[in-house]
Amino acid sequence: LGRIPVAVLGRLRATWLSGKTRPMEYRVAQLEALGRFLDEKKQDILEATASDMGKPPFEAEFTEILLCKNELHETLNNLSHWMKDKHVDKNLVTQLDSAFIRKDPYGVVLIIAPWNYPIYLLLVPLIGAIAAGNCVIVKPSEMTKNSERLVAEVLPSYLDNDCFAVVTAGVQETTMLLENKFDYIFFTGSSSVGRIVMAAAAKHLTPVTLELGGKNPCYVSDTCDVQNVAQRVAWGRFYNAGQTCIAPDYVLCSVEMQKKLLPALDKAITDFYGPKPQESPDFGRIVGDKHFQRVQTLLRSGRAVIGGQTDEKERYIAPTVLVDVQPSDPIMQEEIFGPILPIVTVANMDKAIDFINSHERPLVVYAFSSNDKVVKQVLERTSSGGFCGNDTLMHVTLTSLPFGGIGNSGLGMQHGKFTFDTFTHHRGCLHRGMGREALNALRYPPYSQQKLGLVRAASEVKRKGSPGISAAAPGVLGA
Ligand code: NAD
Repeated sequence: LGRIPVAVLGRLRATWLSGKTRPMEYRVAQLEALGRFLDEKKQDILEATASDMGKPPFEAEFTEILLCKNELHETLNNLSHWMKDKHVDKNLVTQLDSAFIRKDPYGVVLIIAPWNYPIYLLLVPLIGAIAAGNCVIVKPSEMTKNSERLVAEVLPSYLDNDCFAVVTAGVQETTMLLENKFDYIFFTGSSSVGRIVMAAAAKHLTPVTLELGGKNPCYVSDTCDVQNVAQRVAWGRFYNAGQTCIAPDYVLCSVEMQKKLLPALDKAITDFYGPKPQESPDFGRIVGDKHFQRVQTLLRSGRAVIGGQTDEKERYIAPTVLVDVQPSDPIMQEEIFGPILPIVTVANMDKAIDFINSHERPLVVYAFSSNDKVVKQVLERTSSGGFCGNDTLMHVTLTSLPFGGIGNSGLGMQHGKFTFDTFTHHRGCLHRGMGREALNALRYPPYSQQKLGLVRAASEVKRKGSPGISAAAPGVLGA
């Protein structure tokens, strides 16, 4: 098993050294081929994700295809600009030289993807990695077999196989794959596996991006349009049957707000999925038996006031709302990653903020209020990967916003230019002229106080507002 990646790696390493991936035209051609994969295989993608996890076609088309294409178009529209050397400020000594940041590819990079958005979470980093000029190995999740097969069998026919490879691997094979030296590893998945990946990367001092999960709090203040809040929260929680890293994981609100929110959530769920959500074509299924058992067990926390039904054969768990949930309950100890929304009551906003800050830093904090000051307070006094006020999930749709975690929810960022930058080494370059050696003599031994004064005058970064450069400086240039 270990031999396949080694052979693939050798091929990619050789191509990387040949410089094939560096020209912009090459990157553009590969990215356009990726776009053709999305267009021509759209139906296959919809079918694969439907058989893997009952993903509704609307959700698959929106997230797996449309959002990928947005990233692709944003990248193609801006690549020539992003790739350009960035010329930077210079000091007196280097005034006549060239100082710039070269946007260098890392080399051979590894992308490991999870199963919940099996195409989107594989292709978005791949787009950035190709755009930045790298050779890439992508490893889809083994949990979603149909999507994994589609990616492994079809994607390579669109891309240059000298530079890009799909490796299918379970835990054991991925462990072996990670023993190899990569120039960058981009991992999306759980925090526990993130630790394993980072430890493996540390052996080679390989830089990593870790896009992880966690529990995203959703504070609902007493002043808000309750029905709108219920719709936006229910949509974010039950989209993809709750298997979304940025789903609102639990609601924090007062007892009074809970009373108003429950009938509004009930109405939203019925409006979305009808009186029998199990029969709705717009509600997904849990990805596998192990996850089904895990999520079902979490239903024992608190009391189900909406939903609560399960069907093991179909891996169906009804859109569920739990009340009387205690912070010490099992459902509050792990990321739910299923269609269950617990409500934890708090006395007021301050207590909600204390609750959020007493837990690991999440991927996103949500705050709902008609009073902007409340939303701003929650933003100001908490820390998380991202933030979204008065809605859920929507921040992920903007290619202009960095997306990523902090602390337990991850490290690094992606989307739009941020993905390009993630896969780019910002190489600081100074290209000096051969002549003007008299200037350089100032820094050579034998040293003297006078030389030190001149060197300082020519290279010092002054604090703004402090007296201007010393009188010696013009003399330095004119020497
Ligand atoms: P996971 O961590 O179990 O698996 C992710 C990938 O790692 C898979 O490809 C898997 O094959 C591989 N893997 C699993 N165990 C491994 C090991 N011991 N060594 C090496 N590789 C291993 O995650 P998952 O169940 O596929 O996805 C769900 C998790 O991903 C959730 O926690 C969710 O929040 C998180 N997630 C985060 C983001 C984000 O952008 N931050 C997006 C989607 C999902």
